[in-house]
Amino acid sequence: MTTTLTSSRYVFDFAEGSMDQKDLLGGKGANLAEMTRLGLPVPPGFTIGTTACRAYLETGDLPGGVAQEITVHLRRLEETMGRRLGDPADPLLISVRSGAKFSMPGMMETILDIGLTDESVHGLVKHSSDKHFAWDSYRRLLQMYARTVLDVPEELLEAAVATEYGEWGVGTPEELPADAIERACTALKQTIADHTGRPFPQDPAEQLDLAVRAVFRSWSTPRAQLYRRQEHIPDDLGTAVNVMAMVFGNRGPDSGTGVAFTRDPASGAPGVYGDYLQDAQGEDVVAGVRNTVPLAQLATIDPTSHAGLVSAMSALEHHYRDLCDIEFTIERGRLWILQTRVGKRTAGAAFRIAVQLVDEAVITLDEALLRVTGAQLGQLMFPRFGERHGVPEIARGVAASPGAAVGVAAFDSVAAKRYAADGWKVVLVRRETNPDDLPGMLAAVGILTTRGGKTSHAAVVARGLGKTCVCGVDSLTVDTEARRAVTAGGIVIEEGDMLSLDGTVGVVCSGEVPVVASPVVEYFEGLLDLSEADDLVRAVDRLLRHADSRRRLGVHANADMPADAERARRFGAEGIGLCRTEHMFLGERRTLVERLVLAEGPIEQQAVLEELLVLQRDDFAEIFRTMDGLPVTVRLIDPPLHEFLPDLTDLSTRAAVGRATDAPDADAERLLPAVQRIHESNPMLGLRGVRLGIVVPGLFAMQTRAIAEAAVIVAEEGKLVHPEIMVPLVAGEAELRLVRQEIEGVLAAVATRTGRAVATRIGAMIEVPRAALGAQRIAHSADFFSFGTNDLTQLTWAFSRDDVEASIFPRYLDAGIFAVSPFESLDVEGVGRLVRIAVAEGRRGNPDLVIGVCGEHGGDPASIAFFADAGLDYVSCSPYRLPIARLEAGRAAVAPTSTENDTR
Ligand code: PEP
Ligand code: MG
Repeated sequence: MTTTLTSSRYVFDFAEGSMDQKDLLGGKGANLAEMTRLGLPVPPGFTIGTTACRAYLETGDLPGGVAQEITVHLRRLEETMGRRLGDPADPLLISVRSGAKFSMPGMMETILDIGLTDESVHGLVKHSSDKHFAWDSYRRLLQMYARTVLDVPEELLEAAVATEYGEWGVGTPEELPADAIERACTALKQTIADHTGRPFPQDPAEQLDLAVRAVFRSWSTPRAQLYRRQEHIPDDLGTAVNVMAMVFGNRGPDSGTGVAFTRDPASGAPGVYGDYLQDAQGEDVVAGVRNTVPLAQLATIDPTSHAGLVSAMSALEHHYRDLCDIEFTIERGRLWILQTRVGKRTAGAAFRIAVQLVDEAVITLDEALLRVTGAQLGQLMFPRFGERHGVPEIARGVAASPGAAVGVAAFDSVAAKRYAADGWKVVLVRRETNPDDLPGMLAAVGILTTRGGKTSHAAVVARGLGKTCVCGVDSLTVDTEARRAVTAGGIVIEEGDMLSLDGTVGVVCSGEVPVVASPVVEYFEGLLDLSEADDLVRAVDRLLRHADSRRRLGVHANADMPADAERARRFGAEGIGLCRTEHMFLGERRTLVERLVLAEGPIEQQAVLEELLVLQRDDFAEIFRTMDGLPVTVRLIDPPLHEFLPDLTDLSTRAAVGRATDAPDADAERLLPAVQRIHESNPMLGLRGVRLGIVVPGLFAMQTRAIAEAAVIVAEEGKLVHPEIMVPLVAGEAELRLVRQEIEGVLAAVATRTGRAVATRIGAMIEVPRAALGAQRIAHSADFFSFGTNDLTQLTWAFSRDDVEASIFPRYLDAGIFAVSPFESLDVEGVGRLVRIAVAEGRRGNPDLVIGVCGEHGGDPASIAFFADAGLDYVSCSPYRLPIARLEAGRAAVAPTSTENDTR
């Protein structure tokens, strides 16, 4: 039975708590309590709850009563162990470890061997019969304590110990003989006294008290704050402190320490997996000073402990119903488990393990769905490096934007563009990037920087562009002038040398590593049959099919071309939610738009529209054929016409040069007045969307006719066509009403002329805040709404979407103003509020209203749960994100509670 721990107390024995009490006991404390309840061999101890930390951080002191509670629990611990803390004859030693609700590895403090003093170290020498071990434990305590509790600089402490190194010709303190370590302890104590003006505390109770306070304070260090910002961990949780009897893995060959996983966290393969280090303490494993052996070898070294470990692992996995990892220590042949948690794993392992646990009847398929995420599925869809075939890894950095990129090194934008123009794939190598590097980033397939992390300019822009990026490769020195980079090991990369970047793990190789397509994508593409696929592809397929059976949200695709529409169908689209018709105005057809703008009078204008009509009709017919039986939402032209015309500055320059050199540029002279006429200072706020349809006569009518005639042609071929016409940038009902009348007129005319009426729904994009606020009235004239959250974000925040991601966001992300770009993940608080208002208002205005979203957020894993919760009917996203959206929609349907406010 689980006890409910009362908030009137601050300190709890391990035997009192359970794994459900992470808020109070922190993750480590809750799991220690759970293991104690399960009867696993956990050293006894107690947890000081997060409530005490929060009070300490607020007032600068421990709340009243905590000190007494600690004393009571310490006495109980001493009774259990049959030894007293710091007893000069035979001391009990304890560890003090941080442990917050969410794991923050390495961010907060740990202090080991508390209880050692000038006197009790002799007791430990006697009782352990191991002088080296006892003095080295004291040395560890002095060093750790001085650094974390007393703020003595690390260099001073290193220097105090290092005085002994030269004499003995060693490089680490453990290698010193016992007498030398004893002298190092004297030197450390002197350093502490010199630096703090006080001797190292010889009262074990005072050691404990100050250590607890230091751990609480470590919650607020800048690095811990930064980590929380990056991981979206709330700042006000505080940490718990776990006090535990020390056990020692450095007591000789029958002792040791290790980490173990109940399954392989890298591949997901079943079977206990881990590393063991004989005669060592936990930090030695982490520091990687000595080589560990695979856990399987423990079966030979110490079969009894190995058997105990395997049985504890199996008990834990059964109990937690998931992959667990543990830290353990063996002291003189006796096994102790120091920590467990549900283990982190790679994306592939997450899918494999979820399905294995279903097959082992440990969890249900619904639960399995909640064990994987859309972001993980996204990772499995990037191309990866295949066998390296001897291509050497030369450096590592931050895995900033996933994927695999192979190209020639270029050290600036000019070189990058030149190589790209010559047909090379390029990796742009910079110390860091700024907005001036954008042309080079656009020309490159991959970006490597030596400075900055996941929120650096390079990382943010690369992710936005979908390019592979490895940042912060600080072992590489870039010399842009000399056009070369040098690794720490002296390998030189000249401009033009081949580099391979793995942005999923952050590895840089010199040379060309072959890139292989993701088998998961090959499967979606229909290139890989399930019967030939490996267990990963089968796991993805099974969980996706389950998500499909559960989800209430429909999943549509944003697709403009027949090839995209075909992929959308293969990837599971139930319709096209956004066909951006302006993409059909590019390339060779651009000159038609030029002629439309330049036309003198309605007759010439009509002639151009007729030409465009023929082309658009063919485009739509092709998409309708591909999407046979499914709805296709065609959006009428949205962007300002000048986007299809030459740039004003270029044109002005050409005209001016022509005039100055007496060689007039006729083309420029002809276009210039028209381009000047339609030039706008803020085109995003200008003549675009529904306004274009109202101001440029015949444009929307032509597009509607093309849609209606294409629908008739394809229906005549025996296919099922469900066209929908969507009007962009609507702000008020009157706009939509006017345009709707025109559209309905054209639809009726086509039906009369062809003798065939194809039911066509007419709707509005909701992408202007005013439209969201006035949605009830707009819904009177709309059969459907589709949220254009790109524009809605731009207009709600007053952020120019084309500019801010490079110019402003890196700083905003670093400063913690955003945890993530609002163009990437929906700003639930602001834009989300408008969405909710528009859904409620819209349904009030038209109870049959169908509501979707087609902004980028429609494919963002974190935003999909919000859209499901807000009551949308479907999300629409780019074809490659469809499987992610299907999975997330399924997860949203089986998740126990709304995730609206859960930003983690
Ligand atoms: C939007 O604004 O969210 C949208 C889908 O339209 P576009 O990105 O084409 O402006
Ligand atoms: Mg838009």
